[in-house]
Amino acid sequence: MRFHKSESAFFVFISVIFAAGALILHAYSILYSKPQTLFLPEQIDNASYLARLLFASGALVGTALFFGVFFIYPLIRTQVKEEGKLRAMTESLSARSETLEQAALTDALTGMQNRRYFDDALKEYIEEFRRIDKPIGLMILDLDHFKEVNDTYGHDVGDEVLRAVASCLRDMTRYHDIVARLGGEEFAVVAPNMNEDMLVKLAERIRKAIAGMAVISGNVRLKITTSVGLAVWDKRESAEEFYRRADRLLYQAKRMGRNRVCA
Ligand code: GH3
Ligand code: MG
Ligand code: MG
Repeated sequence: MRFHKSESAFFVFISVIFAAGALILHAYSILYSKPQTLFLPEQIDNASYLARLLFASGALVGTALFFGVFFIYPLIRTQVKEEGKLRAMTESLSARSETLEQAALTDALTGMQNRRYFDDALKEYIEEFRRIDKPIGLMILDLDHFKEVNDTYGHDVGDEVLRAVASCLRDMTRYHDIVARLGGEEFAVVAPNMNEDMLVKLAERIRKAIAGMAVISGNVRLKITTSVGLAVWDKRESAEEFYRRADRLLYQAKRMGRNRVCA
């Protein structure tokens, strides 16, 4: 077993104190056993032996003190400082890993939740709602002819449109709804506790709000529309089946001419 430097220093310190203690005890036992005879002239050897014992124990205590002040204390200081640095490092690392975790679930362009978050959250909602008799609604939105926006006005303007749509979706949904960008110009809203009627009304409001929105870029006022596929969980299907059903409804909305909600 290897001892750390500070442990060895501590053992030395204790041994010196122990030796001083033993000397003092020894001197005490001499004093105690012959208190009356010790200072007689013929006992002078014993008395000077006692004096040497006391001097030696004083020297040992002095050494221990010196060792403690100039060696052990600086070691403790260094260790406290190192521990502080280590703690600061651990804190900054854990903050960093939290930020990274957050980043892994966030869409960088819009600041919304991303596909990964959406997949996990939809699965979780389905697990939770299996036990209670409440509906879960899912909307998938895909911007219409978005490629043309990019081709005509450039990618930066396209990005501006995506951010505007994201902001509109955030404004029109509730705190506990999941609003995510699934990728490209495709978004999803998971709205728990909403039946199909309520959900269709919400989807229509969102569709109209996006159609009524104008993204200003230079001297162009840009208009965009969106198609929406909407489904309410049938309480049997898995998250993937639920998602695919809403996605099929989205493509039905596209086929029927876009800028509409299919439920
Ligand atoms: P549809 O009505 O059928 O949905 O037509 P669309 O043009 O919207 O669909 P398509 O899938 O052909 O084009 C999607 C476009 O979205 C293509 C791609 O350039 C663009 N896009 C994907 N991600 C981004 C992005 O992060 N920023 C920008 N500006 N454009 C993106
Ligand atoms: Mg599109
Ligand atoms: Mg698309």
